[in-house]
Amino acid sequence: MQQLNREEVRKRLMSCSLKATHQRIVVYEALLELHGHHPAAEEVYRLLKPANPSISLGTVYKTLDVFAENGLVRRVLSEQGCKRYDANTMAHNHIYCNNTREIIDFEDAELEELLQNFFQRRNLQNFDMHSFAIQLTGNKKEPEKHISITKL
Ligand SMILES: [Zn+2]
Repeated sequence: MQQLNREEVRKRLMSCSLKATHQRIVVYEALLELHGHHPAAEEVYRLLKPANPSISLGTVYKTLDVFAENGLVRRVLSEQGCKRYDANTMAHNHIYCNNTREIIDFEDAELEELLQNFFQRRNLQNFDMHSFAIQLTGNKKEPEKHISITKL
């Protein structure tokens, strides 16, 4: 995820038909900073609170939901049903670890292609599919180590 300056953040908000208010800008900046974590609203709030003491947790919740409804961010559900947010709106899948509650991006062109072909062959009736995402859930074998994906 690339770093964006204020002006680029402003433009990105506006490209999703969102008025670039100061509140929205700081919430989006915090989300970008926490990107790898797929943070919950509380985590975004904790990060931006010191520099923005007037902002409430409720505002952060509402702002993130408005972002999701306008396609600026994606909602990712954790196993417990807790909402997490993803600034990466490109097609990608996730791996969720039950032990550490980490959500890790799983980007794999081969998997995307496989699933595209699969759904084309299945020819879903009376349903206009826009996107799909799979989420693997499980446990890290060694919590202190990173999860890595290798082709065999
Ligand atoms: Zn993601």
